[in-house]
Amino acid sequence: MKFAMIGAGAMGLRYGILLQEAGNDVTFIDTWQPHIDKIREQGGVYVMRDHKDRHLTKIKLETPETFDGHPDMFIFFAKQMQLQDYLDRCEHFFHKDQYAFTCMNGMGHIEKLQNYFADDKIIGGTALIATVLPGPGEVDFMGKRGAGKMNMCPLNEKPDKMCKALFNELQKADMNPTLTDDFTGTLMTKVIFNSVINTICTMFELPMGEFGNFPGAYQMGRQLIDEAYDICARAGIKLVSSRDEEMAALDHNTRIDMPLHYPSMYQDMTKDRPTEVDYINGYIAELGRKYHYEASTHLFVTQAVHLAEFHRQNLAKQRAIKAKQEAPQAQTA
Ligand code: NAD
Repeated sequence: MKFAMIGAGAMGLRYGILLQEAGNDVTFIDTWQPHIDKIREQGGVYVMRDHKDRHLTKIKLETPETFDGHPDMFIFFAKQMQLQDYLDRCEHFFHKDQYAFTCMNGMGHIEKLQNYFADDKIIGGTALIATVLPGPGEVDFMGKRGAGKMNMCPLNEKPDKMCKALFNELQKADMNPTLTDDFTGTLMTKVIFNSVINTICTMFELPMGEFGNFPGAYQMGRQLIDEAYDICARAGIKLVSSRDEEMAALDHNTRIDMPLHYPSMYQDMTKDRPTEVDYINGYIAELGRKYHYEASTHLFVTQAVHLAEFHRQNLAKQRAIKAKQEAPQAQTA
């Protein structure tokens, strides 16, 4: 199959490189200039697995302005706040016969994709696959080959030939896909999962295992899960796991599967980038409002993550002021 990855960050590179290695024709499209420059200078991307085996992998890289290909499918892996800019810049090469697939976290992206692609051409999904972008031009795949798993479901819940072809290619690439039959339930189950781990580990700057091993983890997680499940019940969203199954998945993922991993939201915050919290806990709280349910814990957590972002921004400003004050002294010394 012919793919174009929109967003060649951590996940775009992981999916794209594994699909390329499985025999597909893949082009990467990105907008972050230091990353683009580094990849061009190196002649590819340095790929690692669990910080080891660093090797150069050649990729085809374009910007939205230079790409003029016609792939069968676009795979979107931007951060929620970046997606509209990507769509605006890429619109000129979208055509009616093409598909859009994404496993982005949070909610809000599907409505945006619907403005550019017909409902029967949109496939959504979720990925329990951890990947880190340590810096421009390099990517670290966390976990052994075949570690992690993902769910996927077409928006119209009727898998067609192209959806099945994508499934087969993802299977060949060892991404462990499962084809589910409830679109919103599939996506919301992951949003709820992230609403516990991503946000709590980010605001306290914890690796996931430290949260999982904290004696109060169950109580904290359960409160967020219960609110979110109550809201989904009111909204008529059928989640793909029960409350107890979601709690068990949280426990297993944090303590057993990825105890040393910091979630992607933490990585954004420590790089002074905005987080996706408004599209995760904020989205759940907003959905609650629509159904006259006050999701007070999700609202609190949303603001707590923004407070952590605000604090880091202030620290960065203070560092910049200090560096400016010290600069002339350094020159005269
Ligand atoms: P990413 O931040 O690595 O990349 C997304 C875009 O941001 C790319 O265009 C990239 O070039 C750019 N970018 C990266 N670092 C930047 C920086 N410092 N400054 C400016 N631009 C920068 O995002 P990702 O981790 O690939 O996530 C994409 C989507 O997938 C998100 O919705 C995320 O929540 C979700 N997701 C991520 C993981 C993971 O482990 N990384 C797992 C599951 C789902």
